Amino acid sequence: MKILRTKKEVSTFVNIIKKTNKSLGYVPTMGALHQGHGSLIEQSVSENNYTLVSIFVNPTQFDNATDLNKYPRTLDNDVTLIERISGDIIIFAPKANELYDSKIVSKNYYFDGLEYEMEGKHRAGHFDGVGTILDIFFSLIQPNKAYFGEKDFQQLQIVKKLVAKYNLDVTIIGCPIFREASGLAMSSRNERLSKNSRKEAAFIYKTLLKAKEKFGTKSAIKVEEWVTDQFAKNKHFNLEYVSIANVDTLKPVKRKSKNKKYRIFIAAFIDNIRLIDNIALN
Ligand code: AMP
Repeated sequence: MKILRTKKEVSTFVNIIKKTNKSLGYVPTMGALHQGHGSLIEQSVSENNYTLVSIFVNPTQFDNATDLNKYPRTLDNDVTLIERISGDIIIFAPKANELYDSKIVSKNYYFDGLEYEMEGKHRAGHFDGVGTILDIFFSLIQPNKAYFGEKDFQQLQIVKKLVAKYNLDVTIIGCPIFREASGLAMSSRNERLSKNSRKEAAFIYKTLLKAKEKFGTKSAIKVEEWVTDQFAKNKHFNLEYVSIANVDTLKPVKRKSKNKKYRIFIAAFIDNIRLIDNIALN
């Protein structure tokens, strides 16, 4: 298993691949890998000659120092998970100052307003941090395809926007959400939940499914109200937001249209841990 630590090592590897005309798939992660990440990595391995996985907890996309400090870092386990998929995968696990030099700051981006909705409203500067780090990774790694989970659907749409706006030569592939048996979306943050909270957390997905059913006959606003009410009644959770939004603009739906695609998005706290999830409604 090859673990690269420096930009120079990555450039050397990329230059060799580019000379052979082989394809390179890229899966950016923040580590603490689970089967959700594994599914992205497997898809990349099946579609490309080479796959590179980056493991980097990007400081500029956190708006909260505690969340950044508590973010699980489990490189040895991550390497084992990746090795089980294939011993040929290349891991890039740099330190922050390797990527950011001396100043760990974001650039400013305009993603045509996608960044103002949902996560953007509640996590100041988050998508500037995501844009900044992906700019760095994409220009260094030059992948043919890059894989992102629908778990972070807003991020997926923003990455597609970044690539379109800046004319980047990479195809963005969106991958379905991988769930625990209970329906809870897999997340590195689930590791921080108590056993009981992890069981309770399946409530998010159950509520999303019921909301989807209701969306067949009720307005978006009514369904959002119903979800808000369900969370208010659940003593384990604090709902941060629920939004039924158009998948392209991410703006809340006012009036449903048969020709448009919608998803429902939730962010909620349990045990002071913030979980997000979403599903397609039509
Ligand atoms: P993260 O390490 O949380 O930054 O996630 C790295 C990538 O894995 C992102 O594109 C996520 O959307 C994706 N991902 C995280 N959890 C899941 C999941 N449960 N199913 C599918 N993809 C996921």
